[in-house]
Amino acid sequence: SDPVKPGATEANMRIDPKDTFFAKIVNGTIPVQKVYEDDYCIAFDDIAPVAPVHTLVIPKLPVGGVGDVAHVDLAKYKEHMGHIMATIPHIASLKGIDSYRLVINEGAHAGQSVRWLHVHIIGGKSLGWPPY
Ligand code: IMP
Repeated sequence: SDPVKPGATEANMRIDPKDTFFAKIVNGTIPVQKVYEDDYCIAFDDIAPVAPVHTLVIPKLPVGGVGDVAHVDLAKYKEHMGHIMATIPHIASLKGIDSYRLVINEGAHAGQSVRWLHVHIIGGKSLGWPPY
């Protein structure tokens, strides 16, 4: 069947997170214009924005998605994800918005295309509901 969007394929979901493009952003091999960075996460703008603000936040922890929680160090995962959730309002404020939607696509059928967990911050306009 047609992918939800380009790259949202089962084959891409089988890629080791450490072999993804986002891993190279975290380890610094691919430079990116950063919106925000700290010890736990990096935020940068999506290359194909779906709204006036579309920023991605990725943990500095190799985890493919929320479905991989059983395969990672749980304490580290909670530390990173808790920190990200606590930091998102600040990242949004750096983008000049205080109303936004958070999206985490899990799996090809949900539209995930990069198998390294990332939170989409989407805003800068009134958003529709339901989101599909
Ligand atoms: P997903 O489709 O939910 O896995 O989110 C991956 C996102 O990464 C998509 O919204 C892509 O547009 C975005 N993306 C892919 N390549 C790049 C890039 O080089 N820079 C910034 N964002 C990217």
